[in-house]
Amino acid sequence: MDKSKVLIVEDEPTLLDTLKYSLRGQGYDVVTATDGVQALPTARDEKPDLVILDVMLPGLDGFEICRILRQEMSVPILMLTARDEEVDKIVGLEVGADDYLTKPFSMRELLARVKAHLRRVRLLREEMENAGQAVQAASEKDTVFSFGDLVIDESRREIRLDSEVLALKPKEFELLLFLARNRGVALGRSLILERVWGWDFAGGSRTVDVHIRWLREKIEIDPANPKRILTIRGFGYRFDE
Ligand code: CA
Repeated sequence: MDKSKVLIVEDEPTLLDTLKYSLRGQGYDVVTATDGVQALPTARDEKPDLVILDVMLPGLDGFEICRILRQEMSVPILMLTARDEEVDKIVGLEVGADDYLTKPFSMRELLARVKAHLRRVRLLREEMENAGQAVQAASEKDTVFSFGDLVIDESRREIRLDSEVLALKPKEFELLLFLARNRGVALGRSLILERVWGWDFAGGSRTVDVHIRWLREKIEIDPANPKRILTIRGFGYRFDE
């Protein structure tokens, strides 16, 4: 049984009851709030593992709640919307939601999404514990890393290979910097995703693989046979000196 705690913020009593019943049926702990004002203190007190958040609520709307929660905690937020304009706002304005469902939705679909997000968070926690103290935060002091002819100059935000400055996309730079800081440590895809992309990522761990491929094309002598960024099968990547 999964004893993760889910907070539901929903003002329609029938939908709230259905959600509560279905989630409890899956073994989750469920706490609820029925308006926007109540939602924030409930989230702060209960520290849920996942939040299901309706957009149209009395008091504060779901967008505002999402923005505030996102600043305070790294909990996955699944938004429930009733209109297409709301979807545009969730996707376009980056309110920080991890996912959304448009009403009416199937309960089966909702449960599948809840399960997937909770699993993602659990894997991330495990990876962080495994990597332990070896993993450095992305905000450590500016440094220059030299690995033979490869130089990562953080304060200049520059990567030089054989004295040539490489043209890297911002995320490629951040990814390489994160790998270099944690050289010698096997880093899982979810951890990389969380640290380099944060929670607003689109595309999941495929995003990591694609950026690794681009980086290899730029910094490896033979990208098909990498010597710097090694693949850890079924897990992630490791930067070797
Ligand atoms: Ca509503």
